[in-house]
Amino acid sequence: MKERIHYTKPSVTDREVDFASDAARNGWGEKCYEYIGRFEEMFKQYTGAKYAISTSSCTGALHLGMAALGIGPGDEVILADTNWIATAAPITYLGAKPVLVDILPDSWCIDPDKIEAAITPNTKGIIAVHLYGNLCEMDRLLDIGEKYGLPIIEDSAEALGSFWNQKHTGTMGRFGTFSFHGTKAITTGEGGMFITNDEDLYDTVSVLSNHGRSSSQTKQFWPDMIGFKYKLSNIQAAIGCAQMERIEELITRKREIFAYYHQHLGGIDGIHMNPEQEGNKNSYWMPTVVFDKALGISREAAMDAFSKENIDARVFFWPLSALDMFEDVLQNTNAWDIPARAINLPSYHDLSIAQLDRVSSVIQDGLLR
Ligand SMILES: *Cc1c(COP(=O)(O)O)cnc(C)c1O
Repeated sequence: MKERIHYTKPSVTDREVDFASDAARNGWGEKCYEYIGRFEEMFKQYTGAKYAISTSSCTGALHLGMAALGIGPGDEVILADTNWIATAAPITYLGAKPVLVDILPDSWCIDPDKIEAAITPNTKGIIAVHLYGNLCEMDRLLDIGEKYGLPIIEDSAEALGSFWNQKHTGTMGRFGTFSFHGTKAITTGEGGMFITNDEDLYDTVSVLSNHGRSSSQTKQFWPDMIGFKYKLSNIQAAIGCAQMERIEELITRKREIFAYYHQHLGGIDGIHMNPEQEGNKNSYWMPTVVFDKALGISREAAMDAFSKENIDARVFFWPLSALDMFEDVLQNTNAWDIPARAINLPSYHDLSIAQLDRVSSVIQDGLLR
């Protein structure tokens, strides 16, 4: 059997290990928030956001941000049907309803026309998910937000390193969120980040994320409201600091991996890969191949071919509306149709050229023969 190729794996060097050891050994007492502060500073520096609050997950960051916007029972939040459930779950935690709309056929991100058609008097927000590093149509989305007075929330869990016309994802809408789960562009084991340029929203999320305790409250142990506990530890933040020192290297490597796949597969008739619109930078978190119907290659056939070669491929997200917890939305034709003929390719930073060739050849010499 050939050596196994995993689809994701973090890139961890001695630097991460040294920082984590230092935090474990010395990061207590007056130093207990030192790496957290540094990590948030580095994140602001890189993204250009004014404010950043680290969290234990992206799910938590979304929950905090939407709670701070006052989203609650009876409200609706519009998002793309194609997505990981982590974006929809916090909407339900607040008693609000996820409204699932279709995606665009090329970027696989939310379709702005479908958003407008889904807006009702109960709509309280729109979540833009930059899927697989691909960019949402931010100009259109921000116009829609403006026109209807609705906040645009950027779930950028998959798009650290992606820029829309020089602006980093997560900095264009009311707030942005990121994930540092082990599969993402950088990792802290588990972790997340909330960013915003809105001072009031930042203040509210700061209080909510600290169990409702305001920094101006002089009484000890005196929460002013019910908040949440979604904090990142100093040890996790230490790993994050080392990852942020290496961010350019990590994103560059992701782009090289995509470029290699694209060079081998992108030119083949009937194969579509992650797009990069003019003026944008795609961090290509997850290189993805969508096969035209005419090729007759199904998800199952592709998964099978990869598994025979001992390679982990990954299925394109199922439509959320296909899950038992939600009602089917069959008119979301792209969201229902594309996953049946699509696949995510392995993309961890340390993949060798020989491994990339093995992956490409499953499609070139296997599936297309
Ligand atoms: C990974 C991911 C999340 C969840 O991140 P956690 O840190 O695991 O909570 C949320 N949204 C999207 C789009 C993701 O890919």
